[in-house]
Amino acid sequence: MSTTLPTFYTDTTDVGHHIGGQALHTATRHAPVHNPTTGAVARRVCLADAATVHQAVATARAAFPAWADTPPIQRARVMFRFLALLNQHRDTLAAMVTSEHGKVFTDAQGEVTRGIEIVEFACGIPQLLKGDHTEQASTGIDNWTVRQPLGVVAGVTPFNFPVMVPCWMFPLAIATGNTFVLKPSPLDPSPSLFMARLLEEAGLPPGVFNVVQGDKDAVDALIEHPDVAALSFVGSTPIARSLYERGAHHGKRVQALGGAKNHMVVLPDADLDKAAEALIGAAYGSAGERCMAISVAVLVGDVAERLMPLLEARTRALKVTSGLHADAEMGPIISQAARQRIVGCIDAGVAEGATLRVDGRQHSSAEHPDGFWLGGTLFDHVQPHMKLYQDEIFGPVLSCVRVADAGQALALVNGHAFGNGVALFTRSGQAAREFARRVQVGMVGINVPIPVPMAWQGFGGWKQSLFGDMHVYGEEGVRFYTRQKSIMQRWPDEVDTGNAFVMPTAR
Ligand code: NAD
Repeated sequence: MSTTLPTFYTDTTDVGHHIGGQALHTATRHAPVHNPTTGAVARRVCLADAATVHQAVATARAAFPAWADTPPIQRARVMFRFLALLNQHRDTLAAMVTSEHGKVFTDAQGEVTRGIEIVEFACGIPQLLKGDHTEQASTGIDNWTVRQPLGVVAGVTPFNFPVMVPCWMFPLAIATGNTFVLKPSPLDPSPSLFMARLLEEAGLPPGVFNVVQGDKDAVDALIEHPDVAALSFVGSTPIARSLYERGAHHGKRVQALGGAKNHMVVLPDADLDKAAEALIGAAYGSAGERCMAISVAVLVGDVAERLMPLLEARTRALKVTSGLHADAEMGPIISQAARQRIVGCIDAGVAEGATLRVDGRQHSSAEHPDGFWLGGTLFDHVQPHMKLYQDEIFGPVLSCVRVADAGQALALVNGHAFGNGVALFTRSGQAAREFARRVQVGMVGINVPIPVPMAWQGFGGWKQSLFGDMHVYGEEGVRFYTRQKSIMQRWPDEVDTGNAFVMPTAR
């Protein structure tokens, strides 16, 4: 694999902010950025204080009036040029993701592609922004609606998709005429900075898209800032809930996507070879660090007896190695701290009495002995009361729960606190239809293990997986970043001099 990394990324200088088209390195605090494959510190990232966040918001606010006045077709043209640049630099972005996140390079390419699809959707913004028109709402009166941008909007993103999740937000926010401040995860901060440069190469005016690197301090400054009209957040549930509540307190629109515990239900009539392959990929792909990863397999009837041997053999055979190797199936964990936390969850699962069929805790690498390695871990006989079942682990740990029938499986899924994604494997159309109708989860896959909706459909879970009313991207994304104005108009020749004190009705 050969890709050329941009010089700002390969040099050893700190990863800084991007404000008003300028690179800035203002920070009194820094955090190390590791290469999880080697365990080495690759560079440092600046951690913004409130003053730097205020500078970014002020810059975005100053850029807003001109950008909001720019015709949608011209904003779309910037998106088309950005799209071309993303396609040109697709592998560079993917290499950055593999370097800082650790996921397998082909998986990183897939992430970049899913991000690009949102940009493709945003290119159609003139069509998406068209309002509704009622001619002759009353005699001589027309009524129509327009959708206008909110102002400065912010995005706070997690470590696990450093390209795709920012792309869930900023392309639509910008295309609809807002200006944007992105606060990426400090664990893999470089792709956002690279995309900022590509946006400006595409002709985006300086100040329309800004990046501040940072941690909780930067997020606190954003959620409290009176000039931030809306916040999109993707990350863990406690922070999502807290930002949703604080955002409401500060009068902001907030969509806050949280954690997950996604189930895959396997019915006895399913093709078990295909189900096993799907489970392995969905549980261990990206080291289980996907909000749509499958972390619970619900095995119905006699499925467990037939499927467990397949799962066990396949988990033991997982190829866990550097994501740059062509045969890699799973890379390292994002950080040493995350690795230790996941090991703690496995220890606790054993202590709770679940059956450990495959133990990934001892996995190591001769090539990179200091990398943050974990193998795939497989539990059987997991019970709903166990923390192993209830809590999000966000690592390569698959818990298998045995139930008697499809009704019990549905009740189990619906009783869980999270409701992000779910999958059902079956050959029965009737069972699938019933399940899809009754399940209390935002995104459902029928024989599709990771049902991430397409760019034009919108993404979002239910229950503890999303706080707010609107999903990200798709038409709900357009609605989130705009507000409706209704205009009712008549012209003097047509003025009806009726009773001005009566509630207006159509005449
Ligand atoms: P995280 O919640 O630790 O961090 C997310 C963002 O919030 C980061 O930018 C981080 O710097 C910031 N942050 C961290 N602590 C904060 C605090 N106390 N106050 C304010 N901001 C803070 O999440 P993560 O570890 O980066 O990502 C993994 C989590 O994200 C998992 O729970 C996963 O399920 C979730 N996730 C959800 C979705 C979804 O669509 N629902 C998608 C991807 C990831």
